[in-house]
Amino acid sequence: MHAFDAHCRAALAEIKAQGRYRQFTPLAREAARFPRYRMTRDGVEREVIVWSSNDYLGMGCSPVTIEAACAAAREMGAGAGGTRNISGTSPLHEALEAELADLHGKEAGLVFTSGFVSNQAALAGMLAALPGWQVFSDAKNHASMIAGIKAAKASVHIFAHNDVADLEARLAAAPAGAPKLIAFESVYSMDGDIAPIAAIAALAERFGAFTYLDEVHAVGMYGPQGAGVAARDGVAGRIDIIEGTLAKAFGAHGGYITGRAEVIDFLRSTAGGFIFTTALPPPVVAAALASVRHLRGDDARRARHFERAETLKRRLDAAGLPRMASVSHIVPVLIGDAARCREVSRRLLEEFGIYATPINYPTVARGTERLRLTPGPFHSDAMMDALIAALGAVVGSGAARAA
Ligand SMILES: *Cc1c(COP(=O)(O)O)cnc(C)c1O
Repeated sequence: MHAFDAHCRAALAEIKAQGRYRQFTPLAREAARFPRYRMTRDGVEREVIVWSSNDYLGMGCSPVTIEAACAAAREMGAGAGGTRNISGTSPLHEALEAELADLHGKEAGLVFTSGFVSNQAALAGMLAALPGWQVFSDAKNHASMIAGIKAAKASVHIFAHNDVADLEARLAAAPAGAPKLIAFESVYSMDGDIAPIAAIAALAERFGAFTYLDEVHAVGMYGPQGAGVAARDGVAGRIDIIEGTLAKAFGAHGGYITGRAEVIDFLRSTAGGFIFTTALPPPVVAAALASVRHLRGDDARRARHFERAETLKRRLDAAGLPRMASVSHIVPVLIGDAARCREVSRRLLEEFGIYATPINYPTVARGTERLRLTPGPFHSDAMMDALIAALGAVVGSGAARAA
């Protein structure tokens, strides 16, 4: 056995002992009946209602995306056949980038393999380009932004989450002439809170900082035409790069950045994570494009989504369940212990046919382990009745078990 194998064995034992071992739950979506899934275990098939999908609006199961993907596959094939520079660019890719730039009111857009890659590649590419960058990164930024920031030799200042005063103090303390970048998100996906974007933009203007905003959990859902929270707050024009994913509310796959033409063109020409990888497959691009175009006009779906989220919050409160505060469509329920969190999730699944993801350390701080519920427009009142009853049974008796 190699020393690395020995390391893996010991590390896995430690992860398991801490209750942090991650196990997949194989659930097959039924596109025509979303959010119903099929789970097969020991040869027995059962229906499961999923309350934790990031396909927030059900667009991944919509005829809008499915038909677009099928048509593009028949016409252009399953894969792109090359990187964007070699032979992977189709008219669909350029149409999608133009659509995204228009959605965010920016000059240009650039599509990447995933949201993770867009953050990692764009930030690493920007930060490698100038000496002396001072990066101001929100303490709860996603791993993909951290990966991009760490790849560079920039000085990194981590400011307290959503704390404008702390950010201001750190900006003021940094070398005045150095290039500065503020990297943050709009909707934070584990707590469901939202950044004070206007106040951060104002600080950026005062200190001459470039602003990089991850709107992954907002695009398609917030603001006019689903353009995000910056658009909702009327400050999108004051953000230099707006980044998003095509894989969550848009229901397809891929990530993107939008911004000023020369900034985007520079990253298109230099970012390794963009250049050295095969372009997104045409069916995926077609589905994403159809979804973005559709959602720009589908206010009813957005209204239904927010109505469902507010109704679930109200019903959890009425049932005395430990809902955590959230000003967004994300509804966390506090459990507070990793092993218990996994146990609550397991019992919901096995006894009630309900799937709610357990969120444990290191994704969230120890002691704040939770279930992360993402109600969507297709969760019915009857599904909500069943969820509340199941949580009442399991979270109540779960507390007794953990004690
Ligand atoms: C999911 C996520 C990403 C990555 O997007 P993918 O398209 O899934 O790779 C980036 N940022 C945040 C905040 C996310 O939650």
